[in-house]
Amino acid sequence: RFITLEGGEGVGKSTNVAFVVAELEACGIEVVRTREPGGSERAEAIRQLLLDPAPAESLCDDAELLLMFAARAQHLAATIRPALARGAWVVCDRFTDATFAYQGGGRGLPQADIAALETLVQKGLQPDLTLLLDMPVEAARGRLAARRAETGEGADRIEQEAEQFFEAVRIGYHQRRDADPERFATINADQSLMAVQADIAAALAMRVA
Ligand code: C5P
Repeated sequence: RFITLEGGEGVGKSTNVAFVVAELEACGIEVVRTREPGGSERAEAIRQLLLDPAPAESLCDDAELLLMFAARAQHLAATIRPALARGAWVVCDRFTDATFAYQGGGRGLPQADIAALETLVQKGLQPDLTLLLDMPVEAARGRLAARRAETGEGADRIEQEAEQFFEAVRIGYHQRRDADPERFATINADQSLMAVQADIAAALAMRVA
């Protein structure tokens, strides 16, 4: 089985990816935890190209899109498909829905182009369940700022976009969910961590039991 977690910046994806993995492992399931962009040695090298804020030269939108899918093709070949083939479950922090949301919604690239690359790279493979952690952008940005102040960690290239970009990302996620409601479980991320995790546990029990 293939489970993905999606959502904008600051919705608590990393914490909840760890929670999903722990829940499944407690049931005796072999789980491979991974992330995008990245998730294999060469795909992580592409992640660096995508997110490094240092080069003064801006990354054009088409290159951004193609690098996302280049990283995904490699991630599928090196990590995801081998894990699924041996019967492990894969839990992935972001996947193609993020490309529809960020490069489609955020950057405004045509959905049809993204869909063509999706077909090329995935060859029909889709997640069995996608947990969409959803909350208002302003509140999520507040959480992200608080975490930055605490850890001293800087913003990556894409996190430096304006609030309007992240509003478009959120709408992009909603559109993607509404086009394939069977695959998605929407989790209200704007509640206590305990409440969020209770909702995730319920979605897992209902959808992948
Ligand atoms: O999930 P994480 O914060 O590690 O994602 C790294 C960065 O890549 C984020 O800024 C995210 O917005 C961006 N991203 C993107 N398009 C994708 C996947 C991730 O712009 N398809």
